[in-house]
Amino acid sequence: MKKVKKMKRYDELLVEFKKILKENRLKYTIQREVILKVLFDSKKHTTPEEIYDLVKVRFPKLKTGIATVYRTLNLLEANNVINSITFGAMGKKYELDNKPHHDHLICDECGKIIEFEDEEIEIRQCEIAKKYNFKIKSHIMQLHGICEECEKGGERVDI
Ligand SMILES: [Zn+2]
Ligand SMILES: [Zn+2]
Repeated sequence: MKKVKKMKRYDELLVEFKKILKENRLKYTIQREVILKVLFDSKKHTTPEEIYDLVKVRFPKLKTGIATVYRTLNLLEANNVINSITFGAMGKKYELDNKPHHDHLICDECGKIIEFEDEEIEIRQCEIAKKYNFKIKSHIMQLHGICEECEKGGERVDI
């Protein structure tokens, strides 16, 4: 029942990335590559600003503008290499589409993202699709709300 997705290695992703750049008549640059690298190494969902900061910390000699980060993220998302989650009015967070399937709880107050997987939900989705003779290729489930800390009115985390 459960599809096992093969996780791509970094070199495989890089080949894919270079192909996408070529198809879009964009030059391969190290500035563009490091954005992919940072996303690959990131264990969590990251905002463009966080990616920009991580690039600056990890590759201090590279001059990468925030505009390059935004443009590269848009390109990667349009080509299904990364996924984004929109939270509240604050913006978007990105993750590489290279993890086993999971769904998300999103706090619209602080932007926290909790990942979960529920076998019953997955099975029900397949049953519903079957009922309508519908072939599922993918699905995205995002539950928006307020996390435990924000509900308690705890400290606001600025991100
Ligand atoms: Zn919260
Ligand atoms: Zn996720």
